[in-house]
Amino acid sequence: NLIEPFDFIIFGATGDLTMRKLLPAFLRRFHAGEFTDDARLICIARSELTVEKFRQQVRSALKEFASDISKDNATLDRFLAILSYVPIDATQPDSDWGPVRDALKDQDRTRVFYLATAPALYAPLCAALAEHKLITRQSRIVLEKPIGVSLKTATEINDGVGRYFPEESIYRIDHYLGKEGVQNLLALRFANPVLEKLWCADAIEHVQITAAETVGVGTRGAYYDESGAMRDMVQNHLLQVLCMVAMDAPASLSADDLRNEKLKVLNALRPMTPDMVRQNVIRGQYIAGRIEDKPVPGYSEDLGHDRTSNTETFVAIRTKIRTARWGNVPFYLRTGKRMAAKSTEIVLQFKQQVWPIFTNTPSPGRLVIRIAPDEGLSLVVASKDPGAGGFRVRNAALNMSYENQFTIEYQDSYERLLLDAVRGNPALFIRRDEVEASWRWIEPILDSCRHSLSQLEPYPAGSWGPASTRALLARDGAMWHEDMLT
Ligand code: NAP
Repeated sequence: NLIEPFDFIIFGATGDLTMRKLLPAFLRRFHAGEFTDDARLICIARSELTVEKFRQQVRSALKEFASDISKDNATLDRFLAILSYVPIDATQPDSDWGPVRDALKDQDRTRVFYLATAPALYAPLCAALAEHKLITRQSRIVLEKPIGVSLKTATEINDGVGRYFPEESIYRIDHYLGKEGVQNLLALRFANPVLEKLWCADAIEHVQITAAETVGVGTRGAYYDESGAMRDMVQNHLLQVLCMVAMDAPASLSADDLRNEKLKVLNALRPMTPDMVRQNVIRGQYIAGRIEDKPVPGYSEDLGHDRTSNTETFVAIRTKIRTARWGNVPFYLRTGKRMAAKSTEIVLQFKQQVWPIFTNTPSPGRLVIRIAPDEGLSLVVASKDPGAGGFRVRNAALNMSYENQFTIEYQDSYERLLLDAVRGNPALFIRRDEVEASWRWIEPILDSCRHSLSQLEPYPAGSWGPASTRALLARDGAMWHEDMLT
């Protein structure tokens, strides 16, 4: 499925995201033969660079971030030849857009603008595109997260972009939706009627969604300290995964059917009053500790300056979804930096037997969906232990690992999403009303946190977060997955 020649314009082309994710993803798809040398990647940033100098920077980035494929020098050279570079400062009205206009002569080609810059530039950049008559009927625009830092700023950005692009041409990216394991939730749930029958309050005691990282803030400390885990992870990635877990079956896999169902989940999230925030939200910040037996510094040291910060690097939230399917089932969301292990997973904990007939009933089974690393599934079920005397029952796992099951190497999120944008398939992108519904739910939590209703608790790097995180589940008689023995 070769893509027709297209023009792809990246704003923020010298930045971290472009070098680490976007251009490596394009190189991989180029190498896979999904598009040819007829495509044009027009790269734009402020730095005054020549095309040659820019290509040199890209070459060394690709050697690092797509090291397997960039070994093939012939492909790498052909790929670099597709790239051009134009220095433009989006805040300067007298910047020279001439080279961009010249490169975009062909009005009939698919044209995708990708904004990998600070979100404050999204609206001014759209205005400049309109002023320079660069928006055609075939144009789409991709917006990176974060779409704002509040409902108000998100609305301003959406209005600013919406003035120049119709909603169906706006692709808001959330790379979690490009993850194979997240997409597989659709197959797992809606192609397996037997699982879908259990996917509700009748059979499920609670749901855990975890996105844990072992890394700290790295070089993105300035951004992160403004944002924190709630804005960086919960408002977008975790809520999108929650939607995929909790939504009802869409009428079809069309973008709007899918997004309508996700929106219903966001609107059904129980709103948090300040009192509920106090009881259901835990915020933490890592202090020095050890990861994989190596000492690692705390958040303040990682920020590189000696000051205290009130930014959370960990959040755990207990919430409920007000729908017939989910009734009183708690959903626990958790994300953090410098945690004990890198793990993105979903756990659906099954309910206890109503009337246990075995004297030594193990804990009720569960379905574990591993999104990363080691993508796969584990269905933990009770089984008669043939080794033990008498009739002993214990839990055993039915495991499915993607690596063993599917021989094909699958694409990373950006590979999938970038080319979906080129193809004009918005199903895995976020619609405006979803962004705004997420902010509507998150904002009261952020407000309460700002008023210190949820204290910032320290946790040692290499742990699973503040101690109170356990108590959040213990209250419901539940425990986090890593604490379960079998
Ligand atoms: P970054 O490394 O700071 O890069 C910013 C880019 O924007 C640079 O290419 C910079 O050009 C360009 N730029 C800044 N001001 C400009 C202006 N006035 N006119 C034109 N270009 C301008 O940022 P990043 O980490 O790549 O992130 C970019 C966007 O992606 C942000 O919205 C971020 O939140 C989002 N994002 C990033 C990541 C990630 O892993 N990095 C992940 C998810 C989302 P010069 O350097 O040439 O000045």
